[in-house]
Amino acid sequence: MDGDRRLRPGAGRREGGFEPKGRQVEPSAVAEIEGLLGVGPGRRDLLIEYLHVLQDTHGHLSARHLAALAEWMKLALTEVYEVATFYAHFDVVLEGETPPPRRTVRVCDGISCMLGGAESLLSELRECLEPDVRVLPAPCIGRCERAPAVFVGKNAVDHAGVASVAAAVAEGRFAAEIPDYRGLEEYRAGGGYELLSPDGLLRGLSAETVIERLDSSGLKGLGGAGFRTAQKWRLVRQQPGPRYVAVNADEGEPGTFKDRHYLESDPHRFLEGMLIAAWAVEAHSLYIYLRDEYPAVRVILERELGELDRVGLIPAGTRIELRRGAGAYICGEETAMLESIEGKRGYPRHKPPFPTQVGLFGQPTLIHNVETLYWVRAVLEHGPEWLSNRGRNGRQGLRTFSVSGRVARPGVKLADAGITVRELIEEHCGGMLPGHEFKGYLPGGASGGILPASMGNLPLDFGTLEAHGCFIGSAAVIVLSDQDDTRMVARELMRFFADESCGQCTPCRCGTEKALELMRAGTWDESLLTELSGTMRDASICGLGQAAANPLLCSMRYFPEDRP
Ligand code: SF4
Repeated sequence: MDGDRRLRPGAGRREGGFEPKGRQVEPSAVAEIEGLLGVGPGRRDLLIEYLHVLQDTHGHLSARHLAALAEWMKLALTEVYEVATFYAHFDVVLEGETPPPRRTVRVCDGISCMLGGAESLLSELRECLEPDVRVLPAPCIGRCERAPAVFVGKNAVDHAGVASVAAAVAEGRFAAEIPDYRGLEEYRAGGGYELLSPDGLLRGLSAETVIERLDSSGLKGLGGAGFRTAQKWRLVRQQPGPRYVAVNADEGEPGTFKDRHYLESDPHRFLEGMLIAAWAVEAHSLYIYLRDEYPAVRVILERELGELDRVGLIPAGTRIELRRGAGAYICGEETAMLESIEGKRGYPRHKPPFPTQVGLFGQPTLIHNVETLYWVRAVLEHGPEWLSNRGRNGRQGLRTFSVSGRVARPGVKLADAGITVRELIEEHCGGMLPGHEFKGYLPGGASGGILPASMGNLPLDFGTLEAHGCFIGSAAVIVLSDQDDTRMVARELMRFFADESCGQCTPCRCGTEKALELMRAGTWDESLLTELSGTMRDASICGLGQAAANPLLCSMRYFPEDRP
């Protein structure tokens, strides 16, 4: 009998006056899970999707539902908890805790929105909205050109003020509003999806020939790394199948909103590029990982993927899954994204092996950013020169800049690679805002550093800014003026990194916290901050920890006038 009890802990304890250990599963909660999700067990990789269903249905994740979900999925409860508590968009409510209000307003406190007055807007909204409306700060929601931006539920309010947000709440406008965009019929009328059609251009060509054309064009990965697209396709093709395609639509880098722009205006151009890539690497399982801050894009992609399926444009045997992020910046890192697609916490993986060799579910995986795939059709249709002939100041190609901050006309700007920030501001943005003098700029979002106006004539491109402690990344340019303090900017960015660190490695987890503490002091201990930055850069696992100190180091190096 003792042996039997060891094998089945909890069994028979009640008879002996003991209670079973651990949380007990309520049959009624399991029945509720089955009512929502069907008969179990569910798929392990869909855990985050199931959590979304629960969160959307109940407004939070209760302890009883998490226990029931674990039972339904045949998972250890800890596996469900560690995922549920990792992502910011899940509200885990333990026993004895009060569930949050169902109605939530999220005020973006990314740098561009901060420059646009988000801090005071947040406190005013907290004062004036009803107590049953939860008002939260939110990391960059990807609407920087319309700062300050706010989400009322899933409804984006641009150039938000107290009145416009209060009106949206009062009128119950909580659903995502879908912008006008080019649908399937219009896209096909312009020649869309002809390249891969039975008598299309690509059918008579080998995949290697197509890859050579991409190579000649110089197309690069436009999510931040700038790796040559053709080279990546070749690396994946060299690996034994089955192969996967995973699209990173999790553009969470503060200041970046170009992918949202393309997905909200011309989604099929991206989808066609994705199908061509899958054809070239012979992948039949495709995943699109979309950040949860883009609910309108999710509606568009669900609708248009359904249309593609309906008209038979998804090749036989090909499966496309649209996955929903849950509010974790780190999942924009490619291996963290893979973990998240597999239904886990977004912990970056050690590399090598690289995802081209060991990626999704352990298989070779072609990972691309949305914009990279967006340009594939144009390169193949118009020829490599269409792209390679563009560029200035010695650089080649096109770049889509997300420009925000103190310029007259912020927004998405398609410009030559190598354009300088001064040219960008004058030629594409209508100059600076009235009353603002150009002081400096973030060339690559939160982690790309800060450069002074005196370095405003550097060509903006991959590899041109590294010698100055910066990089272009996803080409998110945030322009600062004489009214801005780079120490404040660097401090707020460190706060963001400390919040978003996944916590896996000590140099980043503790380093960002410690740096933030030092930066909140009136006078910075520059020697200690420099030493700490070096440790974070050298010893962190992934790019978040390695680059988190870039704005801090740039502020100290280039903006001595901001010293208190
Ligand atoms: Fe996580 Fe930061 Fe380490 Fe990256 S560097 S793995 S975000 S703790």
